[in-house]
Amino acid sequence: MKRATCIPALLLACALPACAAAPSECWKLRKNGREAQPCFEQLTQSRNAYERAEGFWGLEQWEQANAQFRLATQPQDSPAQYKVRWGELLHERFNDSDAANLFREALAKDPNNAAAFLGLGTLSADNFDGRAAQYAGKALTLDPKLAAAHELLADVALLNEDRDTAISEADKAIALSPDAIDAMAIHAAVEILADRPPDAWFARIQSATTGKGPGVAETYARVGRQLELHYRYEDAVPYYRKAVVSDPSDWSAHSALGIDLMRMGQQDEPYKELELAYNNGYRDAATVNSLRLIDSYKNFDTYRDNQTIIRLNKSEAAILLPYMQAELHTILSTYEQKYKMTLPGPVQVEVYPNHEDFAVRTTGMPGLGALGVTFGEVVAMDSPSARKPGDFNWGATIWHEMSHVFILTATNHRVPRWFTEGLAVYEEGQRAPEWRNRLTPDVVVAIRDKKLLPVAKLDRGFVSPDYPAQVIVSYFEAGSICNFIGEKWGQDKLLDIVHSFAKLETTPDAIQKNLGITADQFDIQFLAWINQKYGSQAAHFDEWHQKLKQLVEAMQQKQYDAVLKDGPAVLALYPEYVDDANVYELMAAAHRERKDAKSETATLASYVQAGGQSPDALKRLADLQSAGGDNSAAAATLERLTYIYPVKDEVLHHKLGDLLFAQKKFAGAIREYNAVVASNPVDKAGAEYNLAQAYLAAGQRDKAQDSVLAALEAAPGYRPAQKLLLELNSSPSKSN
Ligand SMILES: [Zn+2]
Repeated sequence: MKRATCIPALLLACALPACAAAPSECWKLRKNGREAQPCFEQLTQSRNAYERAEGFWGLEQWEQANAQFRLATQPQDSPAQYKVRWGELLHERFNDSDAANLFREALAKDPNNAAAFLGLGTLSADNFDGRAAQYAGKALTLDPKLAAAHELLADVALLNEDRDTAISEADKAIALSPDAIDAMAIHAAVEILADRPPDAWFARIQSATTGKGPGVAETYARVGRQLELHYRYEDAVPYYRKAVVSDPSDWSAHSALGIDLMRMGQQDEPYKELELAYNNGYRDAATVNSLRLIDSYKNFDTYRDNQTIIRLNKSEAAILLPYMQAELHTILSTYEQKYKMTLPGPVQVEVYPNHEDFAVRTTGMPGLGALGVTFGEVVAMDSPSARKPGDFNWGATIWHEMSHVFILTATNHRVPRWFTEGLAVYEEGQRAPEWRNRLTPDVVVAIRDKKLLPVAKLDRGFVSPDYPAQVIVSYFEAGSICNFIGEKWGQDKLLDIVHSFAKLETTPDAIQKNLGITADQFDIQFLAWINQKYGSQAAHFDEWHQKLKQLVEAMQQKQYDAVLKDGPAVLALYPEYVDDANVYELMAAAHRERKDAKSETATLASYVQAGGQSPDALKRLADLQSAGGDNSAAAATLERLTYIYPVKDEVLHHKLGDLLFAQKKFAGAIREYNAVVASNPVDKAGAEYNLAQAYLAAGQRDKAQDSVLAALEAAPGYRPAQKLLLELNSSPSKSN
């Protein structure tokens, strides 16, 4: 049935429902910044529920649109396309799971529906699940004229750092549809990322439209988003601003602007923008959670010195601040030497005890570790208290994130994802061998199955993973590449490569120029190196798995002799494995049963060296080392534990304080006794008294006096404190 259409200018005069414009024409008016309201109003008067749905949608009357779509899709023979459009509405209104169901239902009705595949592709792209290109490709085989599918492919390719494909897909979209302004936006983004002027593309967008309105706003927001996802947070801001100027009611762009500004460490303007979006009904998870996060700032205190700004939750600031401040200063001086540069201003580190709060900072960001994330000179990370003890090492995380801060600064935010992630992983291992790149079972399997990516394509392992573990595997691979370069060509080459990326050289060029071989040759050499290092673990993975199971069963049946006899051979198959049911802990437990403290100590020490982080195992090791008379080893073990779980553990700080005090390491003892005091100990007087003694030993008499008075305030009759106070008062000395 051919539809009667109206000339837009005559729409107002067009009273009969049969005379209403096709929905697609109303949308086109809207996209191009022309008056579309009357057109949509006409549609709401239609006798056809589907057209009414489109009309209400265009008027942003979401509930009515939803209700009309429900009505329109009820008849068995309703077109599949209605479900596709309904799915697109739900996607726009933050309900991706129902949207996906609708696209699938549409495909059940019509397996050749290209738009439904495109809808699934759009959802995949937004969720970085790696299937977007596959869906868009499927849509194009069904409908080779679908320009929007080429636009999606261009968008995804640019995220994957495959700029040639991005350009050619954008060109295909424009060839099919001269007003494919999203494709022009991709072209503009490519130019900006290459530090070339994008003006010609924006001029084309302007001339294809009225120069304002939702379509233009979306192109600016698209450019902003690409820049943001390429670490160019500051450069993204003006494009988000242009988006909200082009269409002041583009609430999604207001929200994106707010979140981008938050990433840069701002607070007031983000709040204003996010609240505006929220109050106008734009309530996706990122907007809602970001507002909630800003509200939670009242629970945080901010600590500044000349080089650092640290924002900590009030409930744990007293414990964490001394560790974090000291570590940050060590990091700054180490990286300043290593990267031969200083940061332009203080670095801001935010530490979130509630993982949900912190997670919002990463919303919409692909491939980044869930433990920390860097935005220019702002680092947001989990607090150790946000994670299960033993799951997380805040020390390794902060060294990792701070490497990003330096590399983003050094390259003016022009570094491929694989390299900055690789270098950050590499730096963890440089700081402490037990924090080095972890060979997890996922990684061993990927090596065995030859799934490592060529270096020139490694970015897509982070952004468009082909299998769920590929992100983790890509971190490992990128880190190992930096290890390989450092080992074979020297650490200085890593810095040379940083400088190449700052000059916008591509990965193959940077490798050729600094290492003197092609990217393909590099891949061959790197894989040979990996194979030499880990080939044996990969080849024996199944055997290891089988034998580990037998070992666990033997342990469950208390066959300790069997565990001790067979354990070393299983361990040798894969010594890097330190997760659940690892051989180290099994053997240590068997040694303990056999009351062989010496062997238990040695086994647990190997476990820690291999990267084991179970707090219970570390505490046991420290106790064994203490009992064996090696107090300095015990202190070192407990100091490792303070990087894993320094919170909610008064006993740890007390023991470590005592060990350090006995070794006359008074600064460390003061830090630990302070942590005991901050832990709200049962024996507050005793904690203050210990602290007073450490201050006195360090020559800080004033602070010793404060602490001893605090001890007496908690327990006025506490004899040792009374005695110490008397001592302090009777032998006045120069105050420190
Ligand atoms: Zn990272």
